[in-house]
Amino acid sequence: MAGKIVIDTERCKGCGLCVVVCPKNCIVISRHSNKNGYFPAQVTNADCTGCAMCAIICPDVVIEVYRDENIVPIEGSSKKTELTKERA
Ligand code: SF4
Ligand code: SF4
Repeated sequence: MAGKIVIDTERCKGCGLCVVVCPKNCIVISRHSNKNGYFPAQVTNADCTGCAMCAIICPDVVIEVYRDENIVPIEGSSKKTELTKERA
């Protein structure tokens, strides 16, 4: 597993955007409603890459993303690191 997410299911409104956007099909809508009457998103498997697309698209900002330390940096962040080194 390269990444994992934690969903605050009590604040989720079950819009399903995270389900649609996840490239690894890691998220489904729960059959059980939360205290506000919404059917929240829930994580289903361990294929999460930590890409954070679900967290970015979530209108209620209820998804936290974690990445393993050994994950290969995405191109943008890698360049940023090199840039930082050059300036140092
Ligand atoms: S971080 Fe990426 S792979 Fe993981 S659940 Fe979210 S969208 Fe899917
Ligand atoms: S995008 Fe956010 S509010 Fe919508 S279902 Fe996913 S976690 Fe819930």
